[in-house]
Amino acid sequence: MRGLCVHTVCGYVPSRDRVESDGMVALFWGALRTGRRRSGRVVTQAVNGSSTEGRRRRRPTPRSVEHDKQGVGQDERPAVRRFKEGYGIVPQTLAQDLDIRLKHVVRLIKYNATGVEIACAKLTDDSEVDDADVSTIRADVCLCTLPLGVLKHSLTGDSPKFEPALPDWKAQAIRRLGFGNLNKVVLCFDRVFWDQTGNLFGHTNESTLSRGEMFLFWSIYDAPVLIALIAGQSADMVEKMADDIIIKRCMAVLTSIFGNTVPPEPTEAMVTRWRSDPFARGSYSYVATEATGDDYDILAAPVVPTGQDLPRLFFAGEHTLRNYPATVHGALLSGLREAGRIGDQYFGCPYSPIALEEA
Ligand SMILES: Cc1cc2nc3c(=O)[nH]c(=O)nc-3n(C[C@H](O)[C@H](O)[C@H](O)COP(=O)(O)OP(=O)(O)OC[C@H]3O[C@@H](n4cnc5c(N)ncnc54)[C@H](O)[C@@H]3O)c2cc1C
Repeated sequence: MRGLCVHTVCGYVPSRDRVESDGMVALFWGALRTGRRRSGRVVTQAVNGSSTEGRRRRRPTPRSVEHDKQGVGQDERPAVRRFKEGYGIVPQTLAQDLDIRLKHVVRLIKYNATGVEIACAKLTDDSEVDDADVSTIRADVCLCTLPLGVLKHSLTGDSPKFEPALPDWKAQAIRRLGFGNLNKVVLCFDRVFWDQTGNLFGHTNESTLSRGEMFLFWSIYDAPVLIALIAGQSADMVEKMADDIIIKRCMAVLTSIFGNTVPPEPTEAMVTRWRSDPFARGSYSYVATEATGDDYDILAAPVVPTGQDLPRLFFAGEHTLRNYPATVHGALLSGLREAGRIGDQYFGCPYSPIALEEA
């Protein structure tokens, strides 16, 4: 079988020497958990101990993110791990010895009784899609891990297109499930002017519309770097603003908290725009008002060409796993799940009750 992954993450367990035990990977969830909101007030919370030294000595208790989201007592801190080389080491390691074709933009996914054909246009060095330079990849099956935002966009008639179109039950679930937005502004300074004994501090805005704007600042390194988070409607609104305006707004918030200890501007800054990114179109899935957890299962379900028995289109990604959506480990687990499903469908499952009876 010539299997094809449009993009997936699966099967990698980092070795111990690549993981630090005092990191902040789970910070975001911890931050959500603090959940205290008082208009115009600054809310601070050390997620993982009261000092950097304290964090280094602490041996975190293993626990799941799901458990953490349920809310736990102050003394039960979540386990946190940090990849020394950054999260990028996960896909880099997974990609070793695989035929990964970068700069190939999927335009069309055709599927039928005999297999799949994926038409890809080349991405130029200027990040333009060159539709004159198209290559086609043929395979028995396709494991589609396009983000939910891109799948939603494809339903509007834009690329990537599916031929035949995705069945209605799949399209309805793609429409129902929400795909939110979360942006970050990384601010580098020449000195620290905030209290580094905490890992984060919060800020609440005056209006509902702006409540997600720079509602949280992370201080996750010893270096003088802050990461401002922009969520909800504000995340979409700031994408239309120029970088210097967004940075000025960050600095205004910091000045309102720390007064004249704040420098006039950062030495360097970087702003994300996930909604505008044509390869993301948002950040991650959520259960919108008209959706339920079942929609994650529907998004995971493979598609069988009309009149056939065997599926040709399989789906993985954070939006296909109801237990761990919106996470890297959810995406990874969904890839493993689909690898197993494809193996079961095309090679047979040696551990199934039928196989055991036959043996
Ligand atoms: C700001 C932010 C912070 C986060 N923090 C955390 C965290 O601390 N911990 C955590 O666990 N998770 C976190 N997440 C969530 C996590 O990053 C995602 O849930 C996870 O990356 C989803 O993986 P995926 O494989 O489903 O999708 P993606 O990682 O989005 O992969 C989809 C791939 O498809 C490619 N693609 C899209 N369109 C095309 C096309 N037409 N042709 C070819 N390729 C295409 C994209 O380039 C991309 O490589 C965060 C997300 C955001 C936005």
